Amino acid sequence: MPYIYFYWTKVCIWCIIYICISMYKNEAGAMMETRIYKIGEDISESEYDYIKEAAGVIRDGGLVAFPTETVYGLGGDALNPESSRRIYGAKGRPSDNPLIVHIADFEDIYPLARKVPDIAVILAEKFWPGPLTMILKKSGIVPYETTGGLDTVAVRLPDNRIACALIREAGVPVAAPSANRSGKPSPTTAQHVYGDLSGKIDVILDGGAVSIGIESTIIDLTGDIPVILRPGYINQDMLNDILGDVARDPAIDNKVEGDIKPKAPGMMYRHYAPEGELMIVEGEISAVSDKINELAGMYDESVVGIITTTENRERYDYGTVVCIGSRENEITIAHNLYAALRKMDECKIKHIFIEGFSNEGLGDAIMNRIMKAAGHKVLKV
Ligand code: AMP
Ligand code: MG
Repeated sequence: MPYIYFYWTKVCIWCIIYICISMYKNEAGAMMETRIYKIGEDISESEYDYIKEAAGVIRDGGLVAFPTETVYGLGGDALNPESSRRIYGAKGRPSDNPLIVHIADFEDIYPLARKVPDIAVILAEKFWPGPLTMILKKSGIVPYETTGGLDTVAVRLPDNRIACALIREAGVPVAAPSANRSGKPSPTTAQHVYGDLSGKIDVILDGGAVSIGIESTIIDLTGDIPVILRPGYINQDMLNDILGDVARDPAIDNKVEGDIKPKAPGMMYRHYAPEGELMIVEGEISAVSDKINELAGMYDESVVGIITTTENRERYDYGTVVCIGSRENEITIAHNLYAALRKMDECKIKHIFIEGFSNEGLGDAIMNRIMKAAGHKVLKV
């Protein structure tokens, strides 16, 4: 008799363990083996075979991370609702945050949009392939799962040979948000993607570090005048030069509060953020470094991080100090920003201080990302 009790108790315990594991797996998404293929700049014949394999994965409804000139994207078939659902699941992204649809040839924009306005053609001639995303009224073939329920679609033609080869081989437009877990800094290397999404996606095409390092400029062409929804490498002056007057969504420069809702739903969410608390210190540079050194000194050295530039590197000697590039050449700063934020997480830094940047040119996009990552915590000195 006691043996039977013992036997049934054991069975019950195993059942409970099994149910808990299944629930965990459902929550985290079914685990799979993620294949990683290195692809060189010139794309050799054998590397091209990997791209073909990855394109087949996309056609079959699977997910492939690939490099673009901005950040790594997580691609799926933009016309397949199930693929888009998988993208949201793998990223942990809210499903009302629409995906950008990537194409490899300009003509492929026509089936996606109800109407392609002349200014879209003009912008494409000037900036595509490149880091500019255009919002257009969507056609019937684009599922609402891809557009987060909106009647508009975001389209981009990236300037990266691996990305374009993948899209062409897939033979379908590719929906691709940044290939990170939602809310984390965007990935600028295949290793960042692997850290966030291994076991959740089928393939990563490793094309090395990306060139620009921050996400595309988004411009809405569905209204009377074009409106910038997210600043990026293509800045407002460059767009004004081509289009005359371009407006700017006021929500870009504000903390999301009350009635001010950004037109790009993604700008609503906490974004690009490291795990530690990030604070921006702005002002004349010696005052900034004095303040950062003072604030940093309040904490144990092991939990303090400072993100600085070549010009000021020597002013800091406490905690984890990361130099992200030169103020003279802001592309270096864009290029290294997210990797620096991720390094702070790796080092388990709790208090991070970063110097502010001017809002001119590329500085506008850099400050936008830093402000979001810092939850708008700025100290002016
Ligand atoms: P990510 O691909 O992760 O860089 O994010 C894409 C960004 O594009 C998010 O901020 C989205 O909200 C925005 N976006 C995508 N489609 C649309 C659309 N149809 N209208 C407005 N914003 C969009
Ligand atoms: Mg993103």
